[in-house]
Amino acid sequence: MNYSHTRISTFENCPLQYKYRYIERPTVTLGVTIEVFMGRRVHETLEDLYRDLGMTRLPELEALLDYYRAGWEKHWDENIRVIRKEYTPDDYREKGRRCIEDYYRRYYPFDQGRTIGIEERVRVPLGSDRVLTGFIDRLDRVGEGIYEIHDYKTSSHLPTQEEIDRDRQLALYQMDIQNRWRDVKEVILVWHYLVFDRELRSTRTPRDQEELLAEINKVIDQIEAATEYEPRESSLCDWCDFQNICPLFKHLYHVEELSPRQFKEDDGVKLADRYAALLDEEHSLKVKKERLKRDLIDFCLFSGYEVIYGTDRKIKLKKTRGFHFPGAKDKRRKELEELLRQTGLWDELSSLNLKKLEKVLRRGTLPDELREQLKPFYSEEESFRLYGCTTRIYPQG
Ligand code: SF4
Repeated sequence: MNYSHTRISTFENCPLQYKYRYIERPTVTLGVTIEVFMGRRVHETLEDLYRDLGMTRLPELEALLDYYRAGWEKHWDENIRVIRKEYTPDDYREKGRRCIEDYYRRYYPFDQGRTIGIEERVRVPLGSDRVLTGFIDRLDRVGEGIYEIHDYKTSSHLPTQEEIDRDRQLALYQMDIQNRWRDVKEVILVWHYLVFDRELRSTRTPRDQEELLAEINKVIDQIEAATEYEPRESSLCDWCDFQNICPLFKHLYHVEELSPRQFKEDDGVKLADRYAALLDEEHSLKVKKERLKRDLIDFCLFSGYEVIYGTDRKIKLKKTRGFHFPGAKDKRRKELEELLRQTGLWDELSSLNLKKLEKVLRRGTLPDELREQLKPFYSEEESFRLYGCTTRIYPQG
């Protein structure tokens, strides 16, 4: 089975997006976002620069920027989505232009190494019949047996060195480079965070690679075992191509098309508004009840009463003394558990955590034999819960 790094991370970020992108492949999707569009234009411009350099031609900065502008105009399409409404397409175009200019000035005259591959295809066997394929933006040879894998990034997030040292994609591509030539002594991973005019580097040991292979295969095990693909809401949702068909956003897309009158009459809107009003009422009742509880306790303590008589109910005050133990996140919790184990009290005091068992079952990583043994003890039932949370409010609502 063939995997790309994007495919694997899509599953990790949102299983439902994975299902749409790689299994169902719906034809109606939202258009490309401006960030992706700008990234493509910058990539193709740097690709052009290195192709020219390969032909011993060193283009002027202005010529390169003309290439970028021409590519932008040629591929521009009104359906390209601008998610951050405070910025215009021109802002993004300028941002991309600055990325190229900064890059050009930083590396001119581009003699840091000999480029041996642009958009270089890689193929990494992962074990069993699994293969990871992808493309390296640029592959350079910078000395005897020393290779550099270069990756251009136009993202607005600058990762820390720790994040870069954990990055998987280039580390996987490195495995292919090591297999290609006998002279490979060292492979350096290089990221160009163009928006920040920053270069970040990292290297990987054989042990890092072994651990990475195990980690990637574990995720692929989950992908291959998956039968359900839950939506996983995150900050990435606004950039998702399938937001209009995702059950978490479908209704929003539906109501955005309605007139203010239709919006108010929409069954979903009416039900959600009624439910939200009840949640508010419930919350304010809880607050009132807590306040009253405190007043009653104070009243009892002050007056010495333990029972207060109302018209048709009496309220009793019951005093208890409890022990406070370290919470689940407290470091001393482990010590306490260890002590209970050593003293043989653990079995008597601990009980099966069914929530955790369910979580492990859902993850799909239990050995088949154990899964089978557990089967007679559980059944799967569908249940529903409702959560009320604030959201993007429909302008006419
Ligand atoms: S919109 Fe969000 S939750 Fe829905 S499929 Fe896309 S990434 Fe997943």
